[in-house]
Amino acid sequence: MNIYDSEKIITILENKGLKQNEDIENADLIVFNTCNIRDKAAHKLYSDIGRVNKYKKEKTIAVVGCVAQAESYEMFNKNKSIDIILGPQSYHLLPQMIDDLKLKPKQVNTDFIINEKFDYLAEQKRKQGISSYLTIQEGCDKFCSFCVVPYTRGPEYSRPLQSLVDEVSSLTENGAREIVLLGQNVNAFNISHNGRKITIADLIEEISKNKNVKRIRYTTSHPINMRDDLIKLHSTNDKLMPFLHLPVQSGSSKILKKMNRKYDTDFYLKIIDKLKAVNPEIEISSDFIIGYPGETESDFKQTLDLVDKIKFTQSFSFIYSSRPGTKSALEIDKTPLHIKKERLSILQEKLKDIQFEFNKNFIRKNVDVLIENQSSSNPEYFFGRTPFMQSVYIKAQKITPGEVKTVNILTCNHKNLYASC
Ligand code: SF4
Repeated sequence: MNIYDSEKIITILENKGLKQNEDIENADLIVFNTCNIRDKAAHKLYSDIGRVNKYKKEKTIAVVGCVAQAESYEMFNKNKSIDIILGPQSYHLLPQMIDDLKLKPKQVNTDFIINEKFDYLAEQKRKQGISSYLTIQEGCDKFCSFCVVPYTRGPEYSRPLQSLVDEVSSLTENGAREIVLLGQNVNAFNISHNGRKITIADLIEEISKNKNVKRIRYTTSHPINMRDDLIKLHSTNDKLMPFLHLPVQSGSSKILKKMNRKYDTDFYLKIIDKLKAVNPEIEISSDFIIGYPGETESDFKQTLDLVDKIKFTQSFSFIYSSRPGTKSALEIDKTPLHIKKERLSILQEKLKDIQFEFNKNFIRKNVDVLIENQSSSNPEYFFGRTPFMQSVYIKAQKITPGEVKTVNILTCNHKNLYASC
């Protein structure tokens, strides 16, 4: 989501006549797009601002995103060099705020004007890669006890159908061949169109009609929003890839209840069974939070058991990070950090082994890869992804980015596949 937002911010500023400059020293404006999901990310922001302060003379510093939303005016007290503070649901106002600095030296906007933002963004043509993100939904009503998103991104909001279909046309005209639908709760997408209720399954069917779209993915899904129409689509829609990021967070129903995830492990396993029943090929990835307050050895063992059962082929795992303002920040956390680190390392080793075993299955097999780009440093190499999101590096004389190429896998490690054609 933040990558998508950063791309949008660049487009907005370019349309205002600014040019992107990677060289901080020569930039007139420095924009920090921030994430508040973990403590470390928020801290990093202040050390990064300190790092660019030495170039500060005549520069404007804008902080946008979720840290800006959460800390708002308080940021000016923490660092005097910040000029603009702007929440994630109003970043389309950035050009105006830059102009307004002439009238008032410190600018802040943390309003939730999400529909206005998307109306504005729809008019901003943007160029993306072969695989392009499309935000269809933002915000969250779930209030997991550890998470700041409902406070920083606001309630669930789904974009109107026509603006999404138009944006897909614009992306494919600019070369996109894979559309990755984005949302904090992407499968909670839900709108009314001409008196009809439209779900994410309907939207995927609609986008599939665009003949230039070769692949569709969606992320991040919540298990309780895995409706039957969406599950069924994994057997009937060829453009929908057989790979799903479905965060479980923990394998212990006791911890899931404390997290307010609104499902237990049985419910989660039933969803996986349903998906495998309609499409046995489907692979799952997940997020895990290790060391949530109250997690015992037995709870952790249940997480390892679940991993063994489902064999997640890719995952993100982190030690629990307490965030101010969330319910879990008030919980007493007795587990020492070194135990949490040990558990994380055990889990990550297991996940890595599973991923490596999965990748090994592809050696000496042919697999369809959507070619995303050619290496600029070594033009003999191309990069693409399999239907299961594995990264593939291909040695070839000539392939055109955007085509789906069948390649023979020669070797692999746990992260990548290597091929020739
Ligand atoms: S579902 Fe839970 S973890 Fe996901 S954004 Fe909402 S509150 Fe956060």
